[in-house]
Amino acid sequence: VIIGVARETAQGERRVALTPETAKKLVAAGATVRVQRGLGDLAHFPDQAYADAGVQLADGDVLADADVVLCVQPPPADAIARLKPGAVLVGALQPQADEARADAIRGNGIVAFPLERLPRTTRAQAMDILSSQAGIAGYKAVLIAAQLAPRYFPMLTTAAGTIRPSKVLIVGAGVAGLQAVATARRLGAQVECFDVRPETREQIESLGGKFLDLGVSAAGEGGYARQLTDEERALQQQRLADHLKGIDVIVCTAAVPGRPAPKIVSAAMVAGMKPGSVIVDLAAETGGNCELTQPGETVASGNDVVVAGPLNLASQGALHASEMYARNLYNFVSLLLRDGALAFDWDDELLAKTVWPERAAAA
Ligand code: NAD
Repeated sequence: VIIGVARETAQGERRVALTPETAKKLVAAGATVRVQRGLGDLAHFPDQAYADAGVQLADGDVLADADVVLCVQPPPADAIARLKPGAVLVGALQPQADEARADAIRGNGIVAFPLERLPRTTRAQAMDILSSQAGIAGYKAVLIAAQLAPRYFPMLTTAAGTIRPSKVLIVGAGVAGLQAVATARRLGAQVECFDVRPETREQIESLGGKFLDLGVSAAGEGGYARQLTDEERALQQQRLADHLKGIDVIVCTAAVPGRPAPKIVSAAMVAGMKPGSVIVDLAAETGGNCELTQPGETVASGNDVVVAGPLNLASQGALHASEMYARNLYNFVSLLLRDGALAFDWDDELLAKTVWPERAAAA
């Protein structure tokens, strides 16, 4: 089997889907691995490291005769149309987000595995790109907040007097939110966090954060949150508005699968915050949890609160993000390889539920 990886073309994307470490394992499993020269430059994996791992490096089209193509961002539709018909494509593909891409996948008979569709079962954890990348994003979001804040995060007792610790609120306690709680705690801030899934209380507390109880519980299907009803949302908003007056930094991470980010921090709430406060909105990617968030921009509100909406934060931690992402992909691709050749076990739910377009159930 030939595995091909081309340089990422999406703007600002520094991560790679294959590292020298995972390349070596694929070569050991009997695969021929071919990558475009310079593949890992932006993630700090030099060509020589790939060559040492047994990878073939080439300048031109490394995907034309590949049986398996690995990527971070989906390749452009025309590149998908040029793949070998029936090739396997693995990555964060979001096929439904772009019609031309979806058409190219269908038209060329590509066996696509958009890994964001992977069921989040215990067995799938080692392949869970959403979790590995969300962790990096949560970590970076707190560092950005600390950088933008005109305050210290920790409490300090100095000759110039005592500095009170920053009060940091993390909105949403999924994978990114919990990493944000842990990171802000390590920087010495006083950290609070809330989520609509009640089981997050214990997780937040185990990381040294305080669970902020807003009296709303909305666990949905598959361990995810559901959308709030109008009454629930009003209650959450009312209790939050008062609380935010004492908060210095907010890091937003709340999401509901397949929907725009829930709007949680309103313009009126921001207007009630102290000058010099900072909001970093990780949910900017899907519209933001804060009403003032402008995706990809850092703006200031009328009352001197900075609101940042950074995009693709995982890419900013490209080296470790790639290491984890590439391991996720390696673990998934291992399910498809038997004795160095491709073999699909469609009885395996990890394949059957991830593949796109969905396959008709076997008779
Ligand atoms: P996500 O990115 O979809 O959402 C982030 C968080 O926002 C969630 O915790 C969600 O409850 C919260 N949220 C949504 N609406 C909200 C609102 N109005 N107010 C406050 N918070 C709100 O979630 P995720 O990080 O991908 O993880 C979601 C769940 O999946 C978690 O329970 C996580 O533990 C679980 N998970 C399980 C596995 C596994 O292997 N079993 C792996 C990864 C994640």
